[in-house]
Amino acid sequence: MARIGMLKPRLSTVDTRTVRPMAKVADPYYGTAEHKAWAGDVKQRAGGVCQDPEHKGERLVCKGIADHIEERRDRPDLQLDPGNGMYRCWSCHARKTYMARQARMERGDDVPAANHPEWLLPSVVPLTIVCGPPASGKTTWARQQLAGRGLLIDLDEIMAKLSGLALYEAGREWLNPAVRQRNALLGALSKQPKFPRAGLIVSEPTAERREWWARKLRPTRIVVIETPEAICMQRLEGDPRRDRRRAEVTEAVKAWWRSYTRRPGDVIVGPPEAWR
Ligand SMILES: [Zn+2]
Repeated sequence: MARIGMLKPRLSTVDTRTVRPMAKVADPYYGTAEHKAWAGDVKQRAGGVCQDPEHKGERLVCKGIADHIEERRDRPDLQLDPGNGMYRCWSCHARKTYMARQARMERGDDVPAANHPEWLLPSVVPLTIVCGPPASGKTTWARQQLAGRGLLIDLDEIMAKLSGLALYEAGREWLNPAVRQRNALLGALSKQPKFPRAGLIVSEPTAERREWWARKLRPTRIVVIETPEAICMQRLEGDPRRDRRRAEVTEAVKAWWRSYTRRPGDVIVGPPEAWR
């Protein structure tokens, strides 16, 4: 009987998801002249022989595929780089695709993390939620408030930490793992109070969304930094760390101001110039 009892937790951790090849939706990219030229070049340089280092058996001229070494979803910037191509036989291609998918599943990358996780519980740590458009000064304001004595939960910083890149440099592929980690940190706020206080940065322009966070986490307060669009733009211009994503962030500032609605009870804070 004891043995069965010991086996149980092991059984319950078995991953019942099966590894299936992804549904092949025809990606128009593979029909482009640029891709066909790249693929032809990769095949020609390989002499039509599989280049996969783990290829089993004799290396003969075979039917196969010009494959991306760094997958397109990870490195779209290298999709036409001749150095990022490898000719693979179908068998090696199938094995590599299977392994890559398993690795993604183990990291949980294929399961989208929720931006608004319904399972969140009220924070036992006094929490300030800081909202506002990009480049409005949310992080600076939150840091001043925490004064080095608390946990600041900021998606941009989590993306930087996970990727090992500088702030704002990490690409979209880091968003999902970062949201998952942010959610785990938010979940921990409802348990042991490990920090004297905490801050959460979310842009959330609409009153409804801020109400959602208020209901879920029961923060001490929700602060909105109402930095005007023009000042956000100036701050963006003057911030070289934002170079890579400037166009995207500029659009995000405009979109924030288009959808912004006030919510009774929110604390309104002016632009950074007004803090001194
Ligand atoms: Zn092969």
